Parts: sequence; C-alpha cells; structure tokens
Amino acid sequence: MNRISLTSYRRVTVKIGSALLVDRTTGLKREWLAALVDDIARLAASGTEVLVVSSGAIALGRTVLGLGRRTLRLEESQAAAAVGQIALAGAWSGELGRHGLISGQVLVTLGDTEERRRYLNARATISTLLRMKAIPVINENDTVATSEIRYGDNDRLAARVATMMGGDLLVLLSDVDGLYTAPPERDPQARFIPVVDAITPEIMALGGEAASELSRGGMRTKLDAGRIATAAGTAMVIASGKELNPLSAIERGARATLFRPSPTPVRAYKTWIAGQLEPAGRITIDEGALRALLAGKSLLPAGVKKVQGAFSRGDTVAIIGPDGLEAGRGLIAYDAADAVKIAGLKTEAIAAALGYEARAAMVHRDDLVLSRHAARPDERKVEGSDAAGA
Ligand code: GLU
Repeated sequence: MNRISLTSYRRVTVKIGSALLVDRTTGLKREWLAALVDDIARLAASGTEVLVVSSGAIALGRTVLGLGRRTLRLEESQAAAAVGQIALAGAWSGELGRHGLISGQVLVTLGDTEERRRYLNARATISTLLRMKAIPVINENDTVATSEIRYGDNDRLAARVATMMGGDLLVLLSDVDGLYTAPPERDPQARFIPVVDAITPEIMALGGEAASELSRGGMRTKLDAGRIATAAGTAMVIASGKELNPLSAIERGARATLFRPSPTPVRAYKTWIAGQLEPAGRITIDEGALRALLAGKSLLPAGVKKVQGAFSRGDTVAIIGPDGLEAGRGLIAYDAADAVKIAGLKTEAIAAALGYEARAAMVHRDDLVLSRHAARPDERKVEGSDAAGA
C-alpha cells in the first residue's frame, strides 16, 4: 500500500477534473466539493500551501445553458466557459469561505506561463496570494483562449503552474485511480503501477487516448503533466476523486500512483535563461552584490553600478561583475528607463524614484543563473549543458 503523506509537502497543487465536479444533468456536485474542501482546509491548517486547479467551467456552463451533449463550436464552448466559470468560482469561494479561507480566482492562458514577461506577472500574483494566505483557484481562461494557443487540458496546465510556483507536489484527481500496464477496464491482466521512478518511453507508451467524454485529459495528458512536473523536481500523484474526501483517502493509503521527482531536475527555466543568445542589456554590479548573488540572494538595485541597453521588463540581461566579466544572466524586473533611475538606490528609496511601489529586486534569484568561476557546481552544470534547445 502506498501511503502518501500530503502534509509532509510544502506546496501542493491539487487539480480536479471536470467529471468529478460536474454532473451532466444536475450540475455542480456540491456535496463532493464540500468534502474535498474539508480535506483542503485540513491540509492548509497543517501549514501546507495549497493551490487549486479546477476544471469544470465548460461542463458546468453546458449544463446551466442546457446545451446537452452535442459537440460545441469554439465560440459556444467559450460562452459555456464564461457561464460556468462564474458559478464555479462562486462555489469554490463559498466552500472555502465556510472554513474561513479566502480564495482568489486566477485565469491563465498558455502565454501567461510560456512568455517571459507574463510568466513573471503570473508568478508574482500567485506568490502574493499565497503570502496573503489566500488559496489560488486556477483555470485556463477558456473564454478568450483560442484553439491554437491554449492548453486545452488542465493536467498540463496544472503541471506548469506547479513547477512555475516551485511546488513540491502535484495531485491529479480524476476518475482514474492510477497508472496501469494496460487499460484496466478492457484488460483483466492489467497491473497497477504504484510508483514510477522515471517517465521512460515505455511509461509514456502506456498513455493511450482520452479517458472520459467530460474531461479532455486522458492518461496521455497526465503523463505529459508528469514529465513536466518531475523534470522540474515536483512529485506527482494520480489518484481517484470518485469518492468523497479524496485527499484523506490518499493519506490513508487509497490506490494512487506516485511519480517521483527527478533526482537531478533539469532546471529547464534556468537553462533557458542561460541559453539566451543575445542579452538585451548589461547590468554592472559591485563586489557586495556579487557576494550576495553567490550566497543565493537576488540582485538588489543598491549593488548596481551601471545599466546599459534598451531592454524591457522580462528581457534577459547579462550581469557583469566588478572584474568586467560576465557573472551571470537573469530576467530583469524593470524596463531600462526605470532600471537606470534606481541603480545604486537602497530599497527604501525605490518607490520615490519611480513614482510607484515596485518589487525590490532588479533580478530575482529565481530568474538568475550564475556563470563560470562565480558559479556553484550545480549552476556550472546548467551553463555547460545544451541550453539552446531548452
Ligand atoms: N478548462 C476546462 C474547463 O474548465 C477544462 C479542461 C480539462 O478538462 O482539462 O472546462
């Protein structure tokens, strides 16, 4: 038996499939949601940060609008999502509120997790919600996402959110209770796989196609999610949400597959930063700032001596040490004009210089890769790897 202690994780993303939350005829499954939220409240009370990725907007909107089972055109499913999302968000906020928990709705599109500038914004907003002890309730912004530029399934979306937020566990709740060697409903020989140490091509081959008509994601998108999560160092669990209190059930040892995180996570994001061919600017820093970076801190404006280049917030800049050599690269948190204004300033003086309250760091440590002699061994590896492909 696989007992997984959810409370031993620091930041858990729980993804809920549409079929669990929405019944075709009666709409939202309130009793089920209430029981799940009891579990979430218990987890949050134990000190674990919880993020929710909730599907169900389109399914719920379909029921509310009486659209039946027919295939919807893009604009119809977008309209259904608009109707469903408002009800869904209301239900989450009501249920979490029963436990005195505040929720914040976050609707994201593919670009919000894949484009640098928007990635920084989405991450900052979700971090702030967590800091304020609000539970982010996240879904794809289906009303504006067009078919070419959307996730389409919340399994991969949840994996990107979990990794973007540096989460250590992603739980996928749906109508399947784990990974099998073959589809269990069709093959009596199918064996359950309790733990996956690495998502090999053989594991990927177990993907098959979509699982149920209500949800878009099948085992295929769950394995894709597993690849995204585990490669970035986030563990993943596939578990059934069919019974009430599914998170408690996981802790009690209900059937579930655990995907272990990669022991040497490819920091794809950092590799990507290090691999930018043409940094858009150069930030020259002093000795103290270099020492702070080596100690794992962010680059604050106080340690910046010179700012060069016409960059925008979110662009990659080269960070130049006092010896004139490149000490690292990072994503800059300010447009060039503002960076010039605050170079050398203490954190307290930034707001006055800019005329608005801003985040303190010039380059946040999560967006920073040190290079060469300056780097610790793990970062040296990042620099030496084939960054261009990341
Ligand atoms: N974002 C979709 C919705 O809320 C669900 C996508 C999925 O089923 O994974 O309806």
